[in-house]
Amino acid sequence: MKVVIEVDENRCIGKGKCYLVCPRGPKIWKFKSVDGKKVYYASDTSYCFFCKNCATRCPTNAITVKREK
Ligand code: SF4
Repeated sequence: MKVVIEVDENRCIGKGKCYLVCPRGPKIWKFKSVDGKKVYYASDTSYCFFCKNCATRCPTNAITVKREK
């Protein structure tokens, strides 16, 4: 089972809460610049164990975590 993490770039405000609350933050979360705005993304979901901390603690509800076959 593969975990897919989607970040709504329009909602992301680049605070990095996802990175901070994720038990594996440095392995999974990175940021990039989109039109001059800092946006976080999940770079490697193979480390994710589906706790959903990132999604539930995101201040703008920008993150969706789901499982795919
Ligand atoms: S679901 Fe949990 S382990 Fe996976 S990226 Fe989010 S906080 Fe990290």
